Amino acid sequence: MLAVCKVQEGEGGISVEERDPRDPGPGEILIKVAAAGICGTDMQIYYWAPRMARRMELPRVLGHEACGYVEKIGDGVMNVAVGDYVSLESHVYCGTCRPCRLGKAHLCTKTTYPGVSFDGGFAEYVTVPSQIAWINPVDLPIEVAAMMEPFGIAVHTSLAGAGVAGRTVLVNGCGPIGLMNVASARALGATRIIACDINPLRLATAEKMGADRAVNATEEDLQSIVQDMTGGDGIDVAIEYSGTETGFNACFEALAKGGDFRLVGAPPTSIPVDFTHWVVKCPEMQNIHGRRIWDSWQVASELVSTGAVDLGPIHSHSLPIKDGPSGFELIREGKALKPLIVP
Ligand SMILES: [Zn+2]
Ligand SMILES: [Zn+2]
Repeated sequence: MLAVCKVQEGEGGISVEERDPRDPGPGEILIKVAAAGICGTDMQIYYWAPRMARRMELPRVLGHEACGYVEKIGDGVMNVAVGDYVSLESHVYCGTCRPCRLGKAHLCTKTTYPGVSFDGGFAEYVTVPSQIAWINPVDLPIEVAAMMEPFGIAVHTSLAGAGVAGRTVLVNGCGPIGLMNVASARALGATRIIACDINPLRLATAEKMGADRAVNATEEDLQSIVQDMTGGDGIDVAIEYSGTETGFNACFEALAKGGDFRLVGAPPTSIPVDFTHWVVKCPEMQNIHGRRIWDSWQVASELVSTGAVDLGPIHSHSLPIKDGPSGFELIREGKALKPLIVP
């Protein structure tokens, strides 16, 4: 079968290779991949960021945001059956470490990831532990099913702290998950949503996803817009996706006293924080990593299957495996939102 692989260290090094599917061992399933999304983590692998390089052996079939049909099951698999239509949680959790036992499997100390620690879903078939399969309704479009994993992060973020219902929300950074967060915040009852980015395609999509105001940070003053739209109070919930020092500071400045600061996009290097300002403003801090397993999935599934959220506008390209590497280039050039590899 064909597979999109990282074959070389350093920037780039993505190519299409011939690989054999692997028969499922005990507790594993073989999935015929229907669609798989290229995401920010894949771009970090593309750029060979140190935090990815440390965990990876090459060559590696990439792809951790996948959906498809269960083709074969290994011994002892009880949670899914052949023919089931599933999306994959990307955190393979151990179930026995302290966070796992305390109901925080997303913080498992032994997490491994398809497409990083073992071969992933940018291929015709992928073999994974059955524990990470979430069964979808049969009529869920494959383009949506392939985006359930990142959408789960947006749902987790919307539900963190005191949630978003009846509150004003700033989403800073409108990559695919930021855009999904605009939609989940809207569906879960946010009153006013401000989305901020510097890319016109992302800003136009933010409006489609339900933002009341899309702010281009290179042309407009975010802080005065926040003040205007909140009667001078500041925003109740500031959600940071940009992963930049500027974005981190903009979220802090936009916040109302005692508001929620939700950090999703971690800056790649440390940044200075003035804790005197922090203590005076007293934000509640929520750090978001992955999805609550399976709480975020339950709500995400409900939102898309009832039509409360339409993820359609975020899907920008469908590429056959042989053209998979071009998806990385499209993201690099800022021309794609969420490209999907569709075998
Ligand atoms: Zn991802
Ligand atoms: Zn664990």
